[in-house]
Amino acid sequence: MNNNKLNTQHHYVIIGAGMAGILAAIKLREAGKHNVRVYEKADRIGGTWRENTYPGLSCDVPSHSYTYSFEPNSEWTRHLPPGPEVQAYFESVVAKYQLEEIISFNEEITDCRFKNNQWHISTSKGNSDCADFVIAATGVLHHPRIPHIDGMEKFKGKIFHSARWDHSAPLENKRIAVIGTGSTGVQIVTALAECAAQLCHYQRTPQWIMPVVNAEFSEAEKALFRNDPVALKSIQNDPELEANIERFSVAITEPDSAAMHEIENIVRENLENSISDPELRERLRPNYRAACKRLIYSESFYQVVQQSNVEVLSEGVDTIEENGIRSADGTLREFDIIVLATGFQADRFMRPMRITGENDITLEQAWADRPTAYMSVSIPEFPNLFMLNGPNGPVGNFSLIEIAEQQWHYISQLMSLVESAQYQKVSASQTALEDFDKARIIAAKKSIFGSGCQSWYLDAQGIPATWPWTRAKFKEAMQKPDLSAYCLA
Ligand code: NAP
Repeated sequence: MNNNKLNTQHHYVIIGAGMAGILAAIKLREAGKHNVRVYEKADRIGGTWRENTYPGLSCDVPSHSYTYSFEPNSEWTRHLPPGPEVQAYFESVVAKYQLEEIISFNEEITDCRFKNNQWHISTSKGNSDCADFVIAATGVLHHPRIPHIDGMEKFKGKIFHSARWDHSAPLENKRIAVIGTGSTGVQIVTALAECAAQLCHYQRTPQWIMPVVNAEFSEAEKALFRNDPVALKSIQNDPELEANIERFSVAITEPDSAAMHEIENIVRENLENSISDPELRERLRPNYRAACKRLIYSESFYQVVQQSNVEVLSEGVDTIEENGIRSADGTLREFDIIVLATGFQADRFMRPMRITGENDITLEQAWADRPTAYMSVSIPEFPNLFMLNGPNGPVGNFSLIEIAEQQWHYISQLMSLVESAQYQKVSASQTALEDFDKARIIAAKKSIFGSGCQSWYLDAQGIPATWPWTRAKFKEAMQKPDLSAYCLA
């Protein structure tokens, strides 16, 4: 029992001012906890929405779902929000809750060590801090994966990763290569086809494409949402959309379900009906199951790749030379710009930060096999440190905001055990994590993500690193922590 802290304010440190960090800061202050500091390595809030500024950037989760439950937004312009609008939404929320005053910008946490029941923190500016709780809201996809392609350094034009877009590079009438066919590559190609003189999409692996209609909200609809909070809430909690998302969630966990076969039929028909040239159709046909990689939603990708200025190349990139790319078949194509839409190192989470828990165990040691966390939020021997959108959480084509809110509901109950001075520290037990991981891995291998394709969902051993059960089951699990899974001292 610890009574020292009963009447004092605990100090909370949040790592990262992206979607999840903003959520944590708002929730803490709402609960009357004002001793909060957010460390942000960049000069602005927004996380992934700050870092990705590529042409065509859009969110494939419906706008009103990609919204904090407590901050509905009547002004979304489209069913799927354009990236800059998402960034503007987060900026408006930060302004409304006056969070800027508690964010230290351009200050990266470099070291975090648990000693005497507190986290001792060092930052890139040489400052130190001491926190009772650390909330790691560092995001998943923030370390660009830059491939090593022979000759890259010789290229005389502009070459950059999709998340480091070089806005000084003119695009109009340029010869552009895009390497990578993930959600990012597909969005970029779709956007650049409008302005490029020649656009080559280097495809190592084809993707299934889910058709979607991304309609604008009319002025009348926006006025309704503005003036009628019930209408706004009901689009945010649209039961039809909710049912669709749940069906998708069942589909990815049960690859033989009717829901998954329905998805497969839709994407297959989309390919058959949209691509007229049989040779191109076969080039675009994946040889793995739909949704094994993150499913791509696009209104017009298949139309765009049939434009005369666009070519999908499956020969493979061999080398980059000073004027362009030499394919594996020996052909040299000249370009002004090469875009690396090659994804992210999805296993980094809080790293490269050094984090040391109890008994001098480092995060690198704890995660030697794979990044893992009990219920996706807590790591044994790292007490009073919780993650939002950490490893093993639900991923798929649904809103990570909703997931982070559910995680917050769960984490705040764990923190209250310490806040109320019942205990000094709380972290998942090793046994609980091992049992969780065992069950998780068995289920994950059976999920669609484990059905035989390469993707960023897989860990270094090729096992899906995801929450393998349904989204509804996650929500249920986040209702109340099972305290027998935790070490409380
Ligand atoms: P990604 O899904 O990991 O795709 C990377 C692409 O680059 C793949 O096509 C990969 O080919 C290719 N690639 C990697 N290294 C290569 C190399 N050396 N040579 C040739 N090709 C190479 O990355 P992403 O497209 O950036 O998307 C990552 C995630 O970000 C998405 O899954 C999604 O969760 C999120 N995202 C979301 C939205 C949205 O609308 N909400 C938009 C963009 C991104 P292989 O398939 O052969 O490995």
